[in-house]
Amino acid sequence: MKAIESDLVVCSADKVVPDATVLVEGGRVAGVCANAELAGLVSSGKLAAGDVIDRRGCLVMPGLVNTHMHQYGVLSHGIPPAQGVTGFESFLLDYWWPRIEDRVRKSEVLTTSLATMAEMLHSGTTSFCDILEAPLCEGDTLIAQGEQIERAGMRAIVSLESSERVSKANGEACLRQNAESAQHFSARGTGLVRGAICTHTTFTCPRGMIEHAKELACENGCLYQFHLCESRYELEWAMSHLGCTPLSVYNSAGALGPDTLAAQCVKLGEGDLDLLASSGTRAAHLPISNCEVGGGFAPVPSMLQKDVCLGLGTDGYVNDMFQVMRATFLVHKAACETTTVMDSKQVFSLATEKGAQAMGLSKVGRIESGWAADLVAYDMAPQPTPINEGNVFDQLVVFGRASSVRDVWVAGKRLMQDGRLLTLDEERNAAQLRQCADTFWRGL
Ligand SMILES: [Zn+2]
Repeated sequence: MKAIESDLVVCSADKVVPDATVLVEGGRVAGVCANAELAGLVSSGKLAAGDVIDRRGCLVMPGLVNTHMHQYGVLSHGIPPAQGVTGFESFLLDYWWPRIEDRVRKSEVLTTSLATMAEMLHSGTTSFCDILEAPLCEGDTLIAQGEQIERAGMRAIVSLESSERVSKANGEACLRQNAESAQHFSARGTGLVRGAICTHTTFTCPRGMIEHAKELACENGCLYQFHLCESRYELEWAMSHLGCTPLSVYNSAGALGPDTLAAQCVKLGEGDLDLLASSGTRAAHLPISNCEVGGGFAPVPSMLQKDVCLGLGTDGYVNDMFQVMRATFLVHKAACETTTVMDSKQVFSLATEKGAQAMGLSKVGRIESGWAADLVAYDMAPQPTPINEGNVFDQLVVFGRASSVRDVWVAGKRLMQDGRLLTLDEERNAAQLRQCADTFWRGL
């Protein structure tokens, strides 16, 4: 057993314990005790003195959960601007699909995956759900990406976005790669990395493909996920081409339910909010990315009122969940013209246990006996004002900063110690990413 002694344990949005220690055994939380009890545990032989990690001056909280991520997307950070693009459709047809997605291969995937894991760990993220958008990548890419994530020790879901925009056969091949990866990681049984079945949107995937994708997910016992209504484009396209909302297409294909995760959900159609709630479908909210694409404000306060299970994500854009929490706290107050929505406790729960639930991870995202020991030690000293039991959620959600993350554990294994990554060669990975991006951009 190991013990992490701290000034404050943030067990969940409902429970904060001052002067407390988190006990960890076999990758799981074994309990939370008062610091004053530690000496007794050591003297009774239940705990070795050398297994007490002194993190007084820090708070310990659950690791953050990035519910929707594109690791390869870091290639586009700072990319030369697209020329001649006239709108959303043109952005996809003339630029993003041919020049970015169709040129991504396994080597770019592995390089970007290593670099973004470092970025996520430094900002306290321990779990993420990745969607690779590279329809022409090699057939073993997803498994190679997942195995690399396993070696680094992070908790993740990997998936390859499938559609018929290249061809029907390519859509089938991508779905097959998803299913093979789901089977591969399920057979390994390590529990850290899983597969999922992923499709793109209703304007690139016909209903038959969506039905098939959901069937594959059920056969493999894994999550089914897709992008839904990132802007008004998909809603308008579906209404004019299919005569119904995109969510109704998924509903009629039998694809909704608690094992389905819809990302974005910005411009939903009439009745969609009720459909999302009544079907138990999960959602991922990506506030900073919504701002980037000018997509609008997702109706998150209304979704939460209807008890939709919802997590937060970066969309591969700004991969720092502290910034995503801050954006979630702020943008809906502006959109709804009131300060009464999205309090910091609620946002914290979305970034931790609700996000894990949305990804289908059980017992992840709280510090409680039997739950995964995915933990972050956050240094309270750099915060300009005191952090205490009464203000900790505001201090983390509104004023939190990645630079205060000192240690990170996933399944009880320490991946970062005093700001230094233990399972990744950060400098080498960063240099390889710069080289990779430079070469990639030259081919634009
Ligand atoms: Zn996305």
